[in-house]
Amino acid sequence: MSVRRPEKPVVGGMRGGRDPWEVLARSISGRVVRPGEAGYAALALPYNLRAASIRPAGIALCRSARDVATSIRWARRYHFPLIGRSGGHSAGGYSVTTGLMIDTHLMRQATFDTRTRVATIAGGVLNAGVYQALQQHDATITHGRCPTVGAAGFLLGGGIGFNIRTLGIASDAVVASQLVTACGEILTLDDHQNRDLFWACRGGGGGNFGISTCFSIRTVHAPRWVTASRVTWTKKIDRVLPALLRALYESPVRLGTWTTLDAVTPQELAKGKDVSVFFEGQLLGTPAELRHILAPVYAVENPSESTIRKMGYWDAQRNFFSDLQKPAEFQNRGFYFHRHISDEAIGVMLYWLRRWPGTSIYARVSLLRTGGRANAVRPDATAFVHRDNQWYMVWYLKWGEEDSKALVAENLAWLSAFYDAIAPYALPQAYQNFMDPSLKDYLLHYYASNLPRLERIKSVVDPTRVFNFPQAIPPGHRHRWQ
Ligand SMILES: Cc1cc2nc3c(=O)[nH]c(=O)nc-3n(C[C@H](O)[C@H](O)[C@H](O)COP(=O)(O)OP(=O)(O)OC[C@H]3O[C@@H](n4cnc5c(N)ncnc54)[C@H](O)[C@@H]3O)c2cc1C
Repeated sequence: MSVRRPEKPVVGGMRGGRDPWEVLARSISGRVVRPGEAGYAALALPYNLRAASIRPAGIALCRSARDVATSIRWARRYHFPLIGRSGGHSAGGYSVTTGLMIDTHLMRQATFDTRTRVATIAGGVLNAGVYQALQQHDATITHGRCPTVGAAGFLLGGGIGFNIRTLGIASDAVVASQLVTACGEILTLDDHQNRDLFWACRGGGGGNFGISTCFSIRTVHAPRWVTASRVTWTKKIDRVLPALLRALYESPVRLGTWTTLDAVTPQELAKGKDVSVFFEGQLLGTPAELRHILAPVYAVENPSESTIRKMGYWDAQRNFFSDLQKPAEFQNRGFYFHRHISDEAIGVMLYWLRRWPGTSIYARVSLLRTGGRANAVRPDATAFVHRDNQWYMVWYLKWGEEDSKALVAENLAWLSAFYDAIAPYALPQAYQNFMDPSLKDYLLHYYASNLPRLERIKSVVDPTRVFNFPQAIPPGHRHRWQ
Protein backbone atom coordinates (compact mmCIF):
# COMPACT_ATOMS: atom_id res chain seq x y z
CA MET A 1 0.00 0.00 0.00
CA SER A 2 1.34 3.45 -0.80
CA VAL A 3 -0.27 6.26 1.11
CA ARG A 4 1.37 9.63 0.81
CA ARG A 5 2.66 10.90 4.14
CA PRO A 6 1.11 14.29 4.89
CA GLU A 7 3.39 17.29 4.72
CA LYS A 8 3.69 19.71 7.62
CA PRO A 9 0.96 22.37 7.51
CA VAL A 10 1.94 25.75 6.11
CA VAL A 11 1.16 28.63 8.43
CA GLY A 12 -1.18 30.73 6.38
CA GLY A 13 -2.76 34.13 6.25
CA MET A 14 -3.80 36.27 3.33
CA ARG A 15 -2.26 34.99 0.10
CA GLY A 16 -1.64 37.89 -2.22
CA GLY A 17 -4.06 39.88 -0.07
CA ARG A 18 -6.98 37.52 -0.73
CA ASP A 19 -9.24 36.47 2.09
CA PRO A 20 -8.59 32.75 2.72
CA TRP A 21 -12.35 32.13 3.03
CA GLU A 22 -12.87 33.63 -0.37
CA VAL A 23 -10.13 31.37 -1.70
CA LEU A 24 -11.96 28.35 -0.24
CA ALA A 25 -15.36 29.47 -1.52
CA ARG A 26 -13.96 29.84 -5.04
CA SER A 27 -12.19 26.47 -4.89
CA ILE A 28 -15.11 24.17 -4.06
CA SER A 29 -18.29 23.42 -5.95
CA GLY A 30 -20.27 23.54 -2.71
CA ARG A 31 -20.69 26.56 -0.44
CA VAL A 32 -18.86 28.14 2.44
CA VAL A 33 -20.99 29.42 5.32
CA ARG A 34 -19.53 31.84 7.86
CA PRO A 35 -20.87 33.02 11.24
CA GLY A 36 -23.80 35.37 10.81
CA GLU A 37 -24.71 34.01 7.40
CA ALA A 38 -28.04 32.31 6.68
CA GLY A 39 -28.11 28.71 7.88
CA TYR A 40 -24.92 28.97 9.95
CA ALA A 41 -26.54 28.54 13.37
CA ALA A 42 -28.43 25.38 12.41
CA LEU A 43 -25.46 23.86 10.56
CA ALA A 44 -23.05 24.53 13.42
CA LEU A 45 -25.30 22.94 16.05
CA PRO A 46 -24.36 19.41 17.18
CA TYR A 47 -27.07 16.96 18.33
CA ASN A 48 -25.45 16.86 21.77
CA LEU A 49 -25.90 20.42 22.96
CA ARG A 50 -23.14 20.01 25.53
CA ALA A 51 -20.79 20.87 22.67
CA ALA A 52 -22.94 23.66 21.21
CA SER A 53 -20.69 26.48 22.41
CA ILE A 54 -17.84 25.28 20.18
CA ARG A 55 -18.56 27.01 16.88
CA PRO A 56 -16.69 26.75 13.61
CA ALA A 57 -14.95 29.74 12.00
CA GLY A 58 -16.50 28.48 8.79
CA ILE A 59 -18.35 25.53 7.29
CA ALA A 60 -17.46 23.99 3.93
CA LEU A 61 -20.60 22.41 2.49
CA CYS A 62 -18.93 19.91 0.18
CA ARG A 63 -20.60 18.39 -2.86
CA SER A 64 -17.88 15.90 -3.82
CA ALA A 65 -14.78 14.06 -2.63
CA ARG A 66 -12.77 16.65 -4.54
CA ASP A 67 -14.41 19.44 -2.48
CA VAL A 68 -13.48 17.54 0.68
CA ALA A 69 -9.87 17.16 -0.52
CA THR A 70 -9.67 20.87 -1.36
CA SER A 71 -11.11 21.80 2.04
CA ILE A 72 -8.61 19.62 3.89
CA ARG A 73 -5.70 21.09 1.94
CA TRP A 74 -7.04 24.59 2.51
CA ALA A 75 -7.38 24.07 6.28
CA ARG A 76 -3.82 22.80 6.46
CA ARG A 77 -2.44 25.60 4.30
CA TYR A 78 -4.10 28.27 6.45
CA HIS A 79 -3.44 26.41 9.68
CA PHE A 80 -7.08 25.92 10.73
CA PRO A 81 -8.09 22.89 12.78
CA LEU A 82 -10.69 20.85 10.92
CA ILE A 83 -13.45 18.37 11.70
CA GLY A 84 -15.74 16.14 9.63
CA ARG A 85 -19.52 16.36 10.11
CA SER A 86 -22.18 14.07 8.63
CA GLY A 87 -25.30 13.62 10.78
CA GLY A 88 -23.87 15.54 13.76
CA HIS A 89 -25.02 12.84 16.23
CA SER A 90 -21.63 12.12 17.83
CA ALA A 91 -22.59 11.09 21.36
CA GLY A 92 -19.49 12.79 22.73
CA GLY A 93 -20.35 15.93 20.75
CA TYR A 94 -17.09 15.49 18.85
CA SER A 95 -18.01 16.78 15.38
CA VAL A 96 -17.31 20.37 16.44
CA THR A 97 -14.35 22.70 15.96
CA THR A 98 -13.33 26.32 16.21
CA GLY A 99 -11.77 25.94 12.76
CA LEU A 100 -13.20 24.51 9.55
CA MET A 101 -16.16 22.13 9.70
CA ILE A 102 -16.14 19.91 6.61
CA ASP A 103 -19.80 19.08 6.23
CA THR A 104 -20.78 16.31 3.83
CA HIS A 105 -24.54 16.64 4.10
CA LEU A 106 -24.94 17.84 0.49
CA MET A 107 -23.45 14.51 -0.63
CA ARG A 108 -26.72 12.58 -0.61
CA GLN A 109 -26.48 10.25 -3.62
CA ALA A 110 -27.59 6.66 -3.04
CA THR A 111 -27.61 4.01 -5.77
CA PHE A 112 -28.41 0.31 -5.83
CA ASP A 113 -26.91 -2.29 -8.18
CA THR A 114 -29.75 -4.74 -8.82
CA ARG A 115 -27.32 -7.40 -10.08
CA THR A 116 -24.93 -7.49 -7.11
CA ARG A 117 -27.46 -6.02 -4.65
CA VAL A 118 -24.78 -3.65 -3.38
CA ALA A 119 -26.01 -0.25 -2.20
CA THR A 120 -23.61 2.66 -2.68
CA ILE A 121 -24.21 5.72 -0.57
CA ALA A 122 -22.40 9.03 -0.39
CA GLY A 123 -20.70 10.26 2.78
CA GLY A 124 -23.46 12.68 3.74
CA VAL A 125 -26.43 10.31 3.51
CA LEU A 126 -28.41 10.05 6.73
CA ASN A 127 -29.97 6.80 7.98
CA ALA A 128 -33.30 7.98 6.49
CA GLY A 129 -31.66 8.06 3.04
CA VAL A 130 -30.25 4.58 3.58
CA TYR A 131 -33.71 3.24 4.52
CA GLN A 132 -35.17 4.81 1.39
CA ALA A 133 -32.51 3.34 -0.92
CA LEU A 134 -32.93 -0.11 0.64
CA GLN A 135 -36.71 -0.09 0.74
CA GLN A 136 -36.98 0.67 -2.98
CA HIS A 137 -35.21 -2.63 -3.66
CA ASP A 138 -36.66 -4.77 -0.85
CA ALA A 139 -33.20 -4.91 0.65
CA THR A 140 -31.85 -4.50 4.15
CA ILE A 141 -28.69 -4.39 6.27
CA THR A 142 -28.08 -3.98 9.99
CA HIS A 143 -29.32 -0.42 10.23
CA GLY A 144 -29.86 1.87 13.18
CA ARG A 145 -33.21 3.25 14.23
CA CYS A 146 -32.61 6.98 14.28
CA PRO A 147 -33.32 8.48 10.84
CA THR A 148 -31.19 11.58 11.45
CA VAL A 149 -27.97 9.75 12.37
CA GLY A 150 -25.34 9.99 9.62
CA ALA A 151 -24.58 6.74 7.81
CA ALA A 152 -20.87 7.67 7.81
CA GLY A 153 -20.55 7.90 11.59
CA PHE A 154 -22.77 4.84 12.03
CA LEU A 155 -20.75 2.63 9.62
CA LEU A 156 -17.29 3.84 10.62
CA GLY A 157 -17.93 2.91 14.26
CA GLY A 158 -19.57 -0.44 13.48
CA GLY A 159 -23.36 -0.06 13.41
CA ILE A 160 -25.81 -2.00 15.58
CA GLY A 161 -29.57 -2.52 15.44
CA PHE A 162 -32.38 -5.07 15.48
CA ASN A 163 -30.72 -7.15 12.72
CA ILE A 164 -27.42 -7.59 14.55
CA ARG A 165 -28.03 -11.22 15.54
CA THR A 166 -28.92 -12.36 12.03
CA LEU A 167 -26.77 -10.03 9.88
CA GLY A 168 -23.92 -9.01 12.18
CA ILE A 169 -22.34 -5.58 12.58
CA ALA A 170 -23.30 -3.12 9.81
CA SER A 171 -19.68 -2.45 8.86
CA ASP A 172 -19.15 -6.19 8.24
CA ALA A 173 -21.21 -5.69 5.07
CA VAL A 174 -19.16 -2.76 3.73
CA VAL A 175 -17.35 -4.05 0.63
CA ALA A 176 -15.60 -0.81 -0.33
CA SER A 177 -15.40 2.82 0.69
CA GLN A 178 -13.74 6.03 -0.36
CA LEU A 179 -11.60 8.09 2.01
CA VAL A 180 -10.01 11.50 1.65
CA THR A 181 -6.79 11.53 3.68
CA ALA A 182 -4.94 14.22 5.61
CA CYS A 183 -2.96 15.22 2.53
CA GLY A 184 -6.05 15.37 0.35
CA GLU A 185 -5.59 12.07 -1.48
CA ILE A 186 -8.83 10.39 -2.54
CA LEU A 187 -8.40 6.67 -1.88
CA THR A 188 -10.52 3.64 -2.66
CA LEU A 189 -10.51 1.18 0.23
CA ASP A 190 -11.38 -2.46 -0.35
CA ASP A 191 -9.93 -5.97 -0.09
CA HIS A 192 -7.37 -5.19 -2.80
CA GLN A 193 -6.49 -1.53 -2.33
CA ASN A 194 -5.43 0.24 0.86
CA ARG A 195 -6.28 -2.82 2.88
CA ASP A 196 -5.10 -1.47 6.24
CA LEU A 197 -7.28 1.59 5.91
CA PHE A 198 -10.18 -0.57 4.74
CA TRP A 199 -9.73 -2.64 7.88
CA ALA A 200 -9.52 0.50 10.08
CA CYS A 201 -12.60 2.11 8.52
CA ARG A 202 -14.80 -0.80 9.58
CA GLY A 203 -15.07 -0.13 13.33
CA GLY A 204 -12.17 2.28 13.87
CA GLY A 205 -14.66 5.12 14.39
CA GLY A 206 -15.39 8.39 12.61
CA GLY A 207 -12.93 11.27 12.61
CA ASN A 208 -9.73 9.24 12.97
CA PHE A 209 -8.25 8.51 9.54
CA GLY A 210 -9.80 10.90 7.06
CA ILE A 211 -13.19 11.85 5.70
CA SER A 212 -15.22 9.06 4.12
CA THR A 213 -17.11 10.17 1.04
CA CYS A 214 -18.72 6.93 -0.12
CA PHE A 215 -19.60 3.42 1.12
CA SER A 216 -20.63 0.32 -0.84
CA ILE A 217 -22.63 -2.09 1.29
CA ARG A 218 -23.66 -5.67 0.55
CA THR A 219 -27.38 -6.05 1.26
CA VAL A 220 -29.71 -9.00 1.77
CA HIS A 221 -33.35 -9.34 0.76
CA ALA A 222 -35.55 -7.80 3.43
CA PRO A 223 -38.08 -10.23 4.92
CA ARG A 224 -41.59 -9.53 3.58
CA TRP A 225 -42.93 -9.29 7.10
CA VAL A 226 -41.80 -9.58 10.71
CA THR A 227 -43.53 -9.70 14.06
CA ALA A 228 -43.01 -6.29 15.63
CA SER A 229 -43.71 -5.79 19.29
CA ARG A 230 -43.77 -3.05 21.89
CA VAL A 231 -44.62 -4.23 25.39
CA THR A 232 -44.47 -2.25 28.66
CA TRP A 233 -44.43 -3.52 32.22
CA THR A 234 -44.81 -1.12 35.14
CA LYS A 235 -45.47 -3.56 38.00
CA LYS A 236 -43.59 -6.40 39.77
CA ILE A 237 -40.43 -5.16 38.04
CA ASP A 238 -38.09 -7.07 40.40
CA ARG A 239 -39.51 -10.30 38.99
CA VAL A 240 -40.45 -9.15 35.48
CA LEU A 241 -36.97 -7.95 34.52
CA PRO A 242 -35.02 -11.14 35.38
CA ALA A 243 -37.72 -13.23 33.66
CA LEU A 244 -37.60 -11.05 30.54
CA LEU A 245 -33.80 -10.96 30.27
CA ARG A 246 -33.65 -14.75 30.77
CA ALA A 247 -36.29 -15.28 28.05
CA LEU A 248 -34.39 -13.01 25.66
CA TYR A 249 -31.07 -14.64 26.49
CA GLU A 250 -32.52 -18.02 25.54
CA SER A 251 -34.36 -16.71 22.48
CA PRO A 252 -33.45 -17.67 18.89
CA VAL A 253 -31.24 -15.24 16.92
CA ARG A 254 -34.28 -14.49 14.75
CA LEU A 255 -35.36 -12.17 17.55
CA GLY A 256 -33.76 -8.72 17.68
CA THR A 257 -34.55 -6.72 20.82
CA TRP A 258 -33.99 -3.48 22.68
CA THR A 259 -35.22 -3.36 26.29
CA THR A 260 -35.37 0.07 27.90
CA LEU A 261 -35.60 0.78 31.62
CA ASP A 262 -36.70 4.27 32.65
CA ALA A 263 -35.30 5.56 35.93
CA VAL A 264 -37.49 7.06 38.67
CA THR A 265 -36.69 9.47 41.47
CA PRO A 266 -37.10 8.36 45.11
CA GLN A 267 -40.03 10.83 45.34
CA GLU A 268 -41.78 9.17 42.37
CA LEU A 269 -41.06 5.78 43.87
CA ALA A 270 -42.65 6.87 47.17
CA LYS A 271 -45.78 7.85 45.22
CA GLY A 272 -46.02 4.37 43.73
CA LYS A 273 -44.35 4.87 40.33
CA ASP A 274 -41.64 2.29 39.64
CA VAL A 275 -38.98 1.74 36.98
CA SER A 276 -40.74 0.81 33.74
CA VAL A 277 -39.61 -1.97 31.43
CA PHE A 278 -40.22 -1.28 27.74
CA PHE A 279 -39.51 -4.19 25.40
CA GLU A 280 -39.23 -3.71 21.63
CA GLY A 281 -38.71 -6.78 19.49
CA GLN A 282 -38.50 -7.78 15.86
CA LEU A 283 -38.99 -11.49 15.26
CA LEU A 284 -38.52 -13.33 11.98
CA GLY A 285 -41.43 -15.50 12.99
CA THR A 286 -45.08 -15.35 13.97
CA PRO A 287 -46.83 -13.45 16.77
CA ALA A 288 -47.62 -16.82 18.37
CA GLU A 289 -43.89 -17.66 18.51
CA LEU A 290 -43.12 -14.33 20.16
CA ARG A 291 -45.92 -14.83 22.70
CA HIS A 292 -44.42 -18.22 23.46
CA ILE A 293 -40.96 -16.67 24.02
CA LEU A 294 -42.46 -14.03 26.34
CA ALA A 295 -44.79 -16.45 28.16
CA PRO A 296 -42.56 -16.74 31.28
CA VAL A 297 -42.71 -12.96 31.67
CA TYR A 298 -46.47 -12.79 31.18
CA ALA A 299 -46.71 -15.53 33.82
CA VAL A 300 -45.12 -13.09 36.30
CA GLU A 301 -47.23 -10.07 35.35
CA ASN A 302 -49.46 -8.90 32.53
CA PRO A 303 -48.02 -5.87 30.73
CA SER A 304 -49.68 -2.49 31.11
CA GLU A 305 -49.48 -2.02 27.33
CA SER A 306 -48.79 -4.54 24.62
CA THR A 307 -48.73 -4.57 20.81
CA ILE A 308 -47.54 -7.70 19.05
CA ARG A 309 -48.32 -7.60 15.34
CA LYS A 310 -47.29 -9.06 12.03
CA MET A 311 -46.14 -6.13 9.85
CA GLY A 312 -44.35 -5.42 6.59
CA TYR A 313 -40.61 -5.11 7.27
CA TRP A 314 -40.33 -1.35 6.59
CA ASP A 315 -43.63 -0.57 8.37
CA ALA A 316 -42.14 -2.27 11.40
CA GLN A 317 -38.96 -0.18 11.14
CA ARG A 318 -41.00 3.04 11.01
CA ASN A 319 -42.66 1.81 14.18
CA PHE A 320 -39.24 1.48 15.80
CA PHE A 321 -37.75 4.80 14.65
CA SER A 322 -36.47 6.50 17.76
CA ASP A 323 -35.58 9.85 19.08
CA LEU A 324 -36.96 12.35 16.68
CA GLN A 325 -36.73 14.59 19.70
CA LYS A 326 -35.04 17.95 19.66
CA PRO A 327 -31.30 17.98 20.41
CA ALA A 328 -30.55 18.18 24.15
CA GLU A 329 -27.55 17.92 26.45
CA PHE A 330 -26.81 14.30 27.20
CA GLN A 331 -24.27 11.77 28.37
CA ASN A 332 -24.05 8.17 27.18
CA ARG A 333 -22.07 5.43 28.90
CA GLY A 334 -21.95 1.78 27.94
CA PHE A 335 -20.75 -1.76 28.56
CA TYR A 336 -20.85 -5.11 26.81
CA PHE A 337 -21.76 -8.26 28.76
CA HIS A 338 -20.01 -11.50 28.01
CA ARG A 339 -22.93 -13.88 28.82
CA HIS A 340 -26.24 -13.63 30.63
CA ILE A 341 -26.78 -10.63 32.90
CA SER A 342 -26.98 -12.19 36.35
CA ASP A 343 -29.88 -11.62 38.74
CA GLU A 344 -27.39 -9.92 41.05
CA ALA A 345 -26.42 -7.43 38.30
CA ILE A 346 -30.12 -6.84 37.56
CA GLY A 347 -30.63 -6.09 41.27
CA VAL A 348 -27.82 -3.52 41.11
CA MET A 349 -29.41 -1.92 38.03
CA LEU A 350 -32.78 -1.59 39.73
CA TYR A 351 -31.18 -0.23 42.92
CA TRP A 352 -29.65 2.68 40.98
CA LEU A 353 -32.58 3.20 38.61
CA ARG A 354 -34.71 3.90 41.71
CA ARG A 355 -32.31 6.53 43.01
CA TRP A 356 -32.24 8.93 40.06
CA PRO A 357 -31.83 12.58 41.21
CA GLY A 358 -34.13 13.63 38.31
CA THR A 359 -33.82 16.08 35.40
CA SER A 360 -36.41 17.76 33.21
CA ILE A 361 -35.91 15.06 30.53
CA TYR A 362 -34.98 11.48 31.42
CA ALA A 363 -32.44 8.89 32.50
CA ARG A 364 -32.68 5.40 31.08
CA VAL A 365 -30.79 2.25 30.33
CA SER A 366 -31.23 0.28 27.10
CA LEU A 367 -30.17 -3.31 26.63
CA LEU A 368 -29.58 -4.66 23.13
CA ARG A 369 -29.43 -8.43 22.73
CA THR A 370 -26.21 -8.96 20.71
CA GLY A 371 -24.23 -12.07 19.70
CA GLY A 372 -25.31 -14.36 16.87
CA ARG A 373 -23.76 -13.39 13.54
CA ALA A 374 -21.89 -10.44 15.14
CA ASN A 375 -19.89 -12.94 17.24
CA ALA A 376 -19.14 -15.18 14.24
CA VAL A 377 -16.50 -12.76 12.93
CA ARG A 378 -13.00 -12.79 14.43
CA PRO A 379 -12.23 -9.73 16.62
CA ASP A 380 -9.25 -8.83 14.40
CA ALA A 381 -11.03 -9.36 11.06
CA THR A 382 -12.03 -5.68 11.08
CA ALA A 383 -11.36 -2.88 13.55
CA PHE A 384 -14.66 -3.68 15.30
CA VAL A 385 -13.35 -5.78 18.18
CA HIS A 386 -16.46 -6.57 20.28
CA ARG A 387 -17.12 -10.14 19.14
CA ASP A 388 -17.70 -12.14 22.28
CA ASN A 389 -20.76 -10.72 23.99
CA GLN A 390 -24.47 -11.34 24.39
CA TRP A 391 -25.69 -7.94 25.56
CA TYR A 392 -24.83 -4.30 25.08
CA MET A 393 -26.01 -1.86 27.74
CA VAL A 394 -26.16 1.88 27.14
CA TRP A 395 -27.09 4.66 29.57
CA TYR A 396 -28.80 7.84 28.39
CA LEU A 397 -28.87 10.75 30.78
CA LYS A 398 -30.55 13.83 29.28
CA TRP A 399 -31.09 17.25 30.73
CA GLY A 400 -32.26 20.67 29.62
CA GLU A 401 -31.72 24.37 30.14
CA GLU A 402 -34.05 24.50 33.12
CA ASP A 403 -31.91 22.03 35.09
CA SER A 404 -29.44 23.81 37.38
CA LYS A 405 -25.71 23.17 37.19
CA ALA A 406 -25.83 21.65 40.67
CA LEU A 407 -28.59 19.24 39.60
CA VAL A 408 -26.66 18.22 36.48
CA ALA A 409 -23.55 17.62 38.60
CA GLU A 410 -25.62 15.48 40.98
CA ASN A 411 -26.96 13.49 38.01
CA LEU A 412 -23.49 12.94 36.56
CA ALA A 413 -22.25 11.74 39.97
CA TRP A 414 -25.24 9.34 40.13
CA LEU A 415 -24.44 8.07 36.62
CA SER A 416 -20.83 7.55 37.56
CA ALA A 417 -21.73 5.61 40.74
CA PHE A 418 -24.26 3.51 38.78
CA TYR A 419 -21.64 2.77 36.10
CA ASP A 420 -19.02 1.79 38.71
CA ALA A 421 -21.53 -0.52 40.39
CA ILE A 422 -22.22 -2.36 37.10
CA ALA A 423 -18.56 -2.57 36.03
CA PRO A 424 -17.74 -5.77 38.00
CA TYR A 425 -20.44 -7.66 36.05
CA ALA A 426 -19.52 -6.38 32.59
CA LEU A 427 -16.71 -6.66 30.04
CA PRO A 428 -14.26 -3.72 30.03
CA GLN A 429 -15.47 -2.86 26.50
CA ALA A 430 -17.70 -0.06 25.23
CA TYR A 431 -19.22 0.65 21.83
CA GLN A 432 -17.22 3.37 20.04
CA ASN A 433 -20.36 4.87 18.48
CA PHE A 434 -21.61 5.92 21.90
CA MET A 435 -18.48 7.79 22.91
CA ASP A 436 -18.32 8.57 26.60
CA PRO A 437 -16.31 11.71 27.45
CA SER A 438 -15.97 10.56 31.08
CA LEU A 439 -14.35 7.22 30.21
CA LYS A 440 -10.71 7.04 31.29
CA ASP A 441 -9.40 4.00 29.36
CA TYR A 442 -11.51 4.89 26.33
CA LEU A 443 -9.12 3.62 23.66
CA LEU A 444 -8.91 0.19 25.29
CA HIS A 445 -12.66 0.09 25.89
CA TYR A 446 -13.43 0.98 22.25
CA TYR A 447 -10.69 -0.93 20.42
CA ALA A 448 -9.14 -3.43 22.90
CA SER A 449 -6.66 -5.75 21.15
CA ASN A 450 -7.07 -3.90 17.82
CA LEU A 451 -5.65 -0.68 19.26
CA PRO A 452 -1.95 -1.24 18.34
CA ARG A 453 -2.82 -1.82 14.67
CA LEU A 454 -5.09 1.24 14.61
CA GLU A 455 -2.35 3.38 16.15
CA ARG A 456 0.13 2.05 13.60
CA ILE A 457 -2.19 2.95 10.72
CA LYS A 458 -2.75 6.40 12.19
CA SER A 459 1.00 6.97 12.42
CA VAL A 460 1.32 6.37 8.67
CA VAL A 461 -1.70 8.24 7.31
CA ASP A 462 -2.00 11.05 9.83
CA PRO A 463 1.10 11.34 12.05
CA THR A 464 0.48 15.02 12.85
CA ARG A 465 -3.15 14.45 13.90
CA VAL A 466 -4.86 16.58 11.29
CA PHE A 467 -7.93 14.53 12.21
CA ASN A 468 -8.28 15.00 15.92
CA PHE A 469 -10.84 15.16 18.73
CA PRO A 470 -10.66 14.46 22.48
CA GLN A 471 -10.95 10.65 22.11
CA ALA A 472 -9.18 10.26 18.76
CA ILE A 473 -6.80 7.37 18.08
CA PRO A 474 -3.26 8.70 18.49
CA PRO A 475 -0.40 7.82 16.12
CA GLY A 476 1.53 4.90 17.60
CA HIS A 477 5.08 5.85 16.77
CA ARG A 478 6.40 2.78 18.51
CA HIS A 479 4.84 0.56 15.85
CA ARG A 480 6.13 -0.27 12.38
CA TRP A 481 3.81 -0.15 9.38
CA GLN A 482 2.80 -3.57 8.07
C1 LIG B 1 -30.33 9.58 18.92
C2 LIG B 1 -29.23 8.62 18.55
C3 LIG B 1 -29.56 7.35 18.13
C4 LIG B 1 -28.56 6.45 17.76
N1 LIG B 1 -28.90 5.18 17.35
C5 LIG B 1 -27.94 4.30 17.00
C6 LIG B 1 -28.26 2.99 16.58
O1 LIG B 1 -29.43 2.58 16.53
N2 LIG B 1 -27.24 2.15 16.24
C7 LIG B 1 -25.93 2.56 16.27
O2 LIG B 1 -25.05 1.77 15.93
N3 LIG B 1 -25.60 3.80 16.67
C8 LIG B 1 -26.56 4.68 17.03
N4 LIG B 1 -26.21 5.94 17.44
C9 LIG B 1 -24.79 6.30 17.49
C10 LIG B 1 -24.35 6.84 16.14
O3 LIG B 1 -24.19 5.77 15.24
C11 LIG B 1 -22.98 7.56 16.30
O4 LIG B 1 -23.12 8.62 17.21
C12 LIG B 1 -22.45 8.07 14.98
O5 LIG B 1 -21.08 8.35 15.10
C13 LIG B 1 -23.16 9.32 14.52
O6 LIG B 1 -22.79 9.61 13.21
P1 LIG B 1 -23.11 11.04 12.58
O7 LIG B 1 -22.57 11.07 11.22
O8 LIG B 1 -24.55 11.36 12.80
O9 LIG B 1 -22.33 12.00 13.56
P2 LIG B 1 -21.22 13.12 13.39
O10 LIG B 1 -21.29 13.86 14.68
O11 LIG B 1 -21.39 13.89 12.15
O12 LIG B 1 -19.89 12.27 13.29
C14 LIG B 1 -19.48 11.34 14.26
C15 LIG B 1 -17.94 11.25 14.24
O13 LIG B 1 -17.52 10.88 12.93
C16 LIG B 1 -16.77 11.92 12.30
N5 LIG B 1 -17.28 12.03 10.94
C17 LIG B 1 -18.43 12.58 10.52
N6 LIG B 1 -18.56 12.41 9.20
C18 LIG B 1 -17.49 11.74 8.80
C19 LIG B 1 -17.08 11.24 7.54
N7 LIG B 1 -17.81 11.43 6.44
N8 LIG B 1 -15.90 10.56 7.46
C20 LIG B 1 -15.16 10.35 8.57
N9 LIG B 1 -15.49 10.81 9.79
C21 LIG B 1 -16.66 11.48 9.89
C22 LIG B 1 -17.03 13.16 13.13
O14 LIG B 1 -15.95 14.09 13.08
C23 LIG B 1 -17.25 12.57 14.51
O15 LIG B 1 -16.02 12.30 15.14
C24 LIG B 1 -27.19 6.85 17.83
C25 LIG B 1 -26.86 8.13 18.27
C26 LIG B 1 -27.86 9.02 18.63
C27 LIG B 1 -27.48 10.40 19.11
